Amino acid sequence: MVELKTNTSIDAMHTTGKVVGRALTAVREAAAVGVSLLELDEVARGVLRDAGASSPFLGYRPSFAPTRFPAVLCASVNDAIVHGIPDRYRLRDGDLVSVDCGAVLDGWAGDSAISFTVGRPRPADLRLIATAERALAAGIAAAVTGNRIGDIAHAVGSVCRAAGYGIPEGFGGHGVGRRMHEDPGVPNEGRPGRGLPLRNGMVLAIEPMLIAGGTDTYYTAPDGWTLRTHDGSRAAHVEHTVAVTEQGPRILTERPESGPPAP
Ligand code: MG
Ligand code: MG
Repeated sequence: MVELKTNTSIDAMHTTGKVVGRALTAVREAAAVGVSLLELDEVARGVLRDAGASSPFLGYRPSFAPTRFPAVLCASVNDAIVHGIPDRYRLRDGDLVSVDCGAVLDGWAGDSAISFTVGRPRPADLRLIATAERALAAGIAAAVTGNRIGDIAHAVGSVCRAAGYGIPEGFGGHGVGRRMHEDPGVPNEGRPGRGLPLRNGMVLAIEPMLIAGGTDTYYTAPDGWTLRTHDGSRAAHVEHTVAVTEQGPRILTERPESGPPAP
């Protein structure tokens, strides 16, 4: 069932979303060669704690998972696409990192992800990340009343495919509300004009995942969580929680660009 949110609820979700945005910006600023993924998780925990927010990731156990998720971030490095568990791995020069973070505040969830490079970037990685961001922007622009879920999926998928990248099968975005994962599913590839009609009050996580090598296949690492590209090429993942409103798409997980988290 797809729940439509009131404007008041969307405002509350925006408050949660901004906490997620602050956490991601803080993580990005802390990320550097030699910093461990566990240290990045600690940075995000601090931002959630200061905001009085809880983590929908911590302790989460979807049906596919062998264990409860032990962190507030997913940190996926290089050939890891999504769901990487923060560990003692220390970032190296030229790594491509995708960080996914969620929060729950006053009963409302937010979900967002960024990809970035550490140290001296590979030009191919910058192109991959820029394409992921363009795909996300295209998906967000399609999140308007009168469109359907397939229009978002088509917008995201077209940008990825035009650049020659792969799209991991079976993973994509979702509704967001009191729970992080709600109906409807928002695929990263689809046919325009198909699927559920979009209505004002829908809140959706749109989250392109791109595989640089152009294949669509992946495997689950021995930890039971991390999805890695089958071809060993690098991946990017970016995400915003977006409300469909009378005024058009409203990004709820906006991020401060730089500087310390807002008080
Ligand atoms: Mg996410
Ligand atoms: Mg999500």
